Amino acid sequence: MTKLRYQRVLLKLSGEALAGDQKFGINPETLDVIGREIVEVSRMGLQLVLVIGGGNIFRGVSESAKGMDRASADYMGMLATVMNALAVQDALEKLGVETRVLSAIAMREVCEPYIRRRAVRHLEHGRVVICAAGTGNPYFTTDTAATLRAAELKCQAILKATKVDGVYDKDPMKHDDAVMFTTIPYMETLERRLKVMDSTAISLAMDNDLPIIVFNLFTPGNIKRVVSGDDIGTTVQG
Ligand code: UDP
Repeated sequence: MTKLRYQRVLLKLSGEALAGDQKFGINPETLDVIGREIVEVSRMGLQLVLVIGGGNIFRGVSESAKGMDRASADYMGMLATVMNALAVQDALEKLGVETRVLSAIAMREVCEPYIRRRAVRHLEHGRVVICAAGTGNPYFTTDTAATLRAAELKCQAILKATKVDGVYDKDPMKHDDAVMFTTIPYMETLERRLKVMDSTAISLAMDNDLPIIVFNLFTPGNIKRVVSGDDIGTTVQG
């Protein structure tokens, strides 16, 4: 049996990850593929917290929010993350894994409110905990929400799933000579303005000594590789 490097981790998925080849919304096949990878590590006994973005549906700072009050637009973004959370919950439960969606904005007909101690209990019972509605506050991102939940739920690492293999010195989509880091200090990502997470999220991770492992979600088996301790992607740490 594969040994686990961690007992409890937080996996951050962007909303766009759920859209697959589409520009918008949720692609059922992509959802199923991601779901299977998550279920595999959950069955290995890993306690798993998920935070999912909302960018595939709505972002507070996007073109479609232009002219809107920023806070209202951000609340719409947070509601988008609840939709994604429900979609991922559905996909995971179809594959036979118990889950709970816990929302930072109370909506009791739809899911549980986020209560830290309750989240811990669910994890101890082997349920995948999906944290929805970000931090519940405008002017934040789901990357910050992920770091906040990882800190308070005592996760050992934040797994930041992306479209590329790790953190590069320049955009690998635009530059063939971009070089990937295997490790990089938090401070350097801030100073060089590397696109890992926004600066609020990085600062919070740095202050709480939470390693961020950036890796490619679309290489099959990568989530399992990371949690088994394979050195893939880039680790951002102190
Ligand atoms: N959002 C927010 N507060 C939070 C988390 C998210 O206001 O704590 C809003 C914000 O408008 C953001 C949107 O929700 O643009 C979707 O989240 P994000 O952009 O982080 O999603 P991702 O890029 O990961 O898909």
